Amino acid sequence: MRPGESPPRGSLLASVDVTTPADSPTRLSSPLRRHPEATALLFDVDGVLAPIVPNAGDATVPREALDLLEALRDRYALVGVVSGRALADLDRMVPVAGLARSGNHGLEIEVPGEARDVDPAARPHLATVRAFVDMWPADRLAPHGVWMEDKGATLSLHHREAADQDAAVRFLHGEVAATAHDAGLRTRPGRMVLEVLPAVQLDKGTAVRTLLASTAARSAMYVGDDRTDADAWGALRALRDEGALDDALCLVADGPEVDPAVRALADTHVDGTAGVVALMRALARSPC
Ligand SMILES: [Mg+2]
Repeated sequence: MRPGESPPRGSLLASVDVTTPADSPTRLSSPLRRHPEATALLFDVDGVLAPIVPNAGDATVPREALDLLEALRDRYALVGVVSGRALADLDRMVPVAGLARSGNHGLEIEVPGEARDVDPAARPHLATVRAFVDMWPADRLAPHGVWMEDKGATLSLHHREAADQDAAVRFLHGEVAATAHDAGLRTRPGRMVLEVLPAVQLDKGTAVRTLLASTAARSAMYVGDDRTDADAWGALRALRDEGALDDALCLVADGPEVDPAVRALADTHVDGTAGVVALMRALARSPC
């Protein structure tokens, strides 16, 4: 739709009461499935599609969620996954063709039907990331209960398995973060993880903008569970304010590990990964 034209429909989500403690999948999905051909559905992966497990390498997306992604893909304008994981890892976890994908916190993008790529802004920084990986071999991290997930363009330092969480966080946010910053990289905390990234302004928000620009969607939903997902929520709201979207729905997959500050940034919540599956089931039903 071009500026000045009337929206194809009204404020679809106006009837959703976002103040109730547990929003029903049926009520949340109802306005979205009314115009699936003009609606985009975007999901974070860990903690949203895949239950959190002690070792991130063991995380899997349940079969039902994969089947539902496939069903939704065939009905909606765009269905996609946006993750801090590398795209190569997302291929393994979410083996569903035709989805939009962004990996490495917005550094990698794949629009359906187009070749995937590392964002040009990030490419000059990749050698610095490799040098940082070499600087922190496993034997320097393991004594602190930390291990590194090398994702190519970015890396994740996980401390979920550390016996002394406070000490692990001090180590990561002190000594490790300092060497990253000295090398010209940036860091950002996540859920039991410290991310190390190229110093470029790319995040899940820029990814959402790129993916939505490839569609004619006028409504969009993003489900997240972590502070990095707040960038995606912010992008949806900004797009709505700019007139590029009529409706934006920012959902958190809630659970005991979700930061209350993150929860407060969402419009409303569903209950964990099971709640996300229930929402997907509702979204897959025929328009009401
Ligand atoms: Mg997550």
